[in-house]
Amino acid sequence: MIQVTQTYLPDQEKYINYLNEIWKSGWITNNGPLVLRLEDELKDYLSLKNFNFCNNGTIALQIALKALNITKEVITTPFSYVATTNAIIWENCKPVFVDINDNDFNIDTKLIESHITENTEAILATHVFGNPCDVQKIEAIATKHNLKVIYDAAHAFGVKYLDKSLLSYGDITTCSFHATKIFHTVEGGAIICKSDAVNEKVYLMRQFGHIGDQYFIAGINGKSSEMHAAMGLCVLEDMDKIFKLRKHVIKYYNDHLNLSKLKIPFPLPGTINNDAYYPVVFENEEILLQVMASLKENDIVPRRYFYPSLNNLPFLNEHFDCPVSESISKRILCLPLSTYLKNDELEIIINVTNQNL
Ligand SMILES: *Cc1c(COP(=O)(O)O)cnc(C)c1O
Repeated sequence: MIQVTQTYLPDQEKYINYLNEIWKSGWITNNGPLVLRLEDELKDYLSLKNFNFCNNGTIALQIALKALNITKEVITTPFSYVATTNAIIWENCKPVFVDINDNDFNIDTKLIESHITENTEAILATHVFGNPCDVQKIEAIATKHNLKVIYDAAHAFGVKYLDKSLLSYGDITTCSFHATKIFHTVEGGAIICKSDAVNEKVYLMRQFGHIGDQYFIAGINGKSSEMHAAMGLCVLEDMDKIFKLRKHVIKYYNDHLNLSKLKIPFPLPGTINNDAYYPVVFENEEILLQVMASLKENDIVPRRYFYPSLNNLPFLNEHFDCPVSESISKRILCLPLSTYLKNDELEIIINVTNQNL
């Protein structure tokens, strides 16, 4: 069976060597040497000043909201993974959904200001499929209205925008290093802060809010382990290979899919994307369901990613109109994309898809 993604597993020997190091030191968690090494290497790799490795991308979002003292309304996108919305609700804040634009499926900056109220404290937007939100417009709006900006960059590892790491924008950017993401540590995430003061707070929050016997704030447990860091170190070493293999798949899709009948996102100029996903939007939901059924007959499982539009989650108290997000959500499918896909498998996916268009 071919799934939408297949986790990249590095050379097992290499991982075992790290395990041997861990067994020798006896240090398996609480900011051990491998966690520190991974943080240093990622900081270098991504050209970032501050970097907090943590245990997943959802706790990263929760810590981000908490560290910035967000307690009321948060303007957010309806087109993301459910964790983006859940983090807001979990922190007892109110998600205010602003529709997305048709080109890159990111929050429509033209609609943000009309949703700002006296209770709005932050904008939490997702760089969906690794394509940047309009970070400059968002920054201008945030400055004008004195709002904090958080980016959910779970899809955006390694993306560059205007010659800078996309992860360097916003007051805080969070990442996910879950096994399904392009760079992974089995489970994991990161919290990247623009200001050193916020970074210090995040550092404390991630480890219960204390250093030794000194207690500063009510923190949580956002720490990761040496075993997770070891996986990260192994995968990071292979990133060039991972990007190259995925580029091959993307090119194959681009060259052979009937793109005159499919819509694919169109990123802002100045974007160097990371080839993390291959989303296609069909003309209508009926075609999508047909394509899914035909792929399933061939043992291929793509994913309706993202569906439903998050403004329609059944546990929300308030209705928000997001017609663009609802329409895209019903018609979008992420085709399988991994470092392990073979050309003959790609042929099947492409033929089945084209035949149904
Ligand atoms: C994967 C993902 C998350 C959650 O990350 P975890 O590490 O699985 O907790 C959050 N937001 C988006 C957009 C994601 O794709």
